Amino acid sequence: MQWPRYMAPTMALLPQRLLLTLVLLPHLLILLSLGVGGSAYGTKPPCFWPSSAAEDGRCLSWRVMVEANNARGWRTVPAPCVGYVTGYMTRGQYGRDLDGVMDQVSAYVDQITPPADDGLDAWVLDIDDTCLSNLFYYEAKRFGAYDPLAFKTWASQGACPGIPAVLRLFATLRDKGFKVFLLSGRDEETLGSCTTENLESQGFSGYERLMMRTPEYRGQPSSVFKSAMRKQLAEEEGYRIRGNVGDQWSDLQGENVGDRVFKIPNPMYFVP
Ligand SMILES: [Mg+2]
Repeated sequence: MQWPRYMAPTMALLPQRLLLTLVLLPHLLILLSLGVGGSAYGTKPPCFWPSSAAEDGRCLSWRVMVEANNARGWRTVPAPCVGYVTGYMTRGQYGRDLDGVMDQVSAYVDQITPPADDGLDAWVLDIDDTCLSNLFYYEAKRFGAYDPLAFKTWASQGACPGIPAVLRLFATLRDKGFKVFLLSGRDEETLGSCTTENLESQGFSGYERLMMRTPEYRGQPSSVFKSAMRKQLAEEEGYRIRGNVGDQWSDLQGENVGDRVFKIPNPMYFVP
């Protein structure tokens, strides 16, 4: 049979296309059945971020529980999620989430009344994984359980990189005339000078006061120490805490937390 001239190239390929369709048909049917069954009866549909691996979906759920403060007291990242947390922290999503938090803080700063002339409008910022990053340290140890001696060795080097988005917020608050207090659970006696130098080297200068853990609070939960420090600021010194930023819920709960709190993501470790 002679095909019309304009159809000839298409029709000439017909046998090959038919063969290809027959070869692919079983695969298409399998994919369709997985998709329909998965969404209809509660089995999880494919997760395309960060990958289609079922383990990553479970780790994403775990991270959401951590950020929402539903998961508490965990001592280390679950072993199946170490790769996921590494990817989250280093492949862009952590930075996007952090920028999102900073956008919310900026919108709030723009909306509240500016600092009064009495110099008592304050912000409280945490240091570790708020102003300064410990990602290199935790990634190297595969996010293992908190090790006070190893962390002290790392922190005493004074080499923690500043977190740029938080540095920009810090500078904005300072330049607007808020008094910025840096509140850290780090031990003042052993890590005071290296922390001061580390902050300075990363551009955190012009804060009102660096408040670190004194001997009387050694061994106490961070939430107890930080509550006491904020109480001192608010009730003894008369500061109005307009905002409070930290990567742990223990930075943001307790007494005198401030008018509004902002949680920076941190799936690397938990501090009570
Ligand atoms: Mg912290």
